[in-house]
Amino acid sequence: MARKSPRSRRKAAPAARTRGALRAPVSPRKRTRKRAAPTTTNGVHASGTLTPPGRTKPARARGSAPVTRRRPAPGATPSARKARTSKRGAWSRADTSFALPDPARVATICDILERTYPDAKCALTFETPLQLLIATILSAQCTDVRVNMVTPGLFESYPDAWALAAVPQEELEAVIRSTGFFRNKARAIRECCADLVAKHGGDVPRTLEDLILLRGVGRKTANVVLGNAYRIPGLVVDTHVTRVSHRLGLTEETDAVKIEFSLMPIVPRKRWTLFSHWLILHGRAICVARKPRCSVCPLIPHCPRCGVTISE
Ligand code: SF4
Repeated sequence: MARKSPRSRRKAAPAARTRGALRAPVSPRKRTRKRAAPTTTNGVHASGTLTPPGRTKPARARGSAPVTRRRPAPGATPSARKARTSKRGAWSRADTSFALPDPARVATICDILERTYPDAKCALTFETPLQLLIATILSAQCTDVRVNMVTPGLFESYPDAWALAAVPQEELEAVIRSTGFFRNKARAIRECCADLVAKHGGDVPRTLEDLILLRGVGRKTANVVLGNAYRIPGLVVDTHVTRVSHRLGLTEETDAVKIEFSLMPIVPRKRWTLFSHWLILHGRAICVARKPRCSVCPLIPHCPRCGVTISE
């Protein structure tokens, strides 16, 4: 039941007295003792103790020890107070410390991954940079297998950027419908190809700066195209790369762009593209999201297993 404020309780008092006319009369002294002491607007009780606005002082059994409230330390920020008062054992930023990974350990991890996944490559089927760009846009929230089923027919009907920029929205939506989010993807493909035609003569640019200026293209898509179509090293950060790099203690960041920038200095540049493929394959096969299979993982001697609470 909702707690009433002292003011509403005082308003209700006459009615209560009327209903309880048969009750034994209460002496004025007792009534005075029961009445709540007034509070000021800033929450300071008349007696000088802190009381939350809208609340009376908590009831205390007669003779029990006085309730003492801890006041915030002078100068403590709200976040610091929150961290200090968080549940014992719960995650707290103040408790974490991150040390940059040892380059020798990172090199060992790369070597093991290379041996474990010697055939690592882009799972999307493509023949030209444009086909890879479109396939990558389609792969958002969709499996590579499904995208590979759709793209052959798509590229047969619309072989270049001019054809894809000119195709009506509804027509393109019908072709790519099975990849999900087809309305947004169709719009992104048409607008991206219109940009390619207008700014790059229908070709896919070779720099990250130009690629991310295309509509519907972010750093992840741009790095996929650079690394796999042009063999220009690019670190692709997807959900698997995020999770596995965390567990390996390679980064403490949570944002994809920040993870990319934190991995850049510790992974040799020539291995950036393959490193992404390795982590994606490892995240799908062994370091799976729910229950990583640490007992069969070749990286276990070099993995701090950050954040892993359950494994098999
Ligand atoms: S040891 Fe476990 S947590 Fe570390 S990479 Fe292997 S599966 Fe993932």
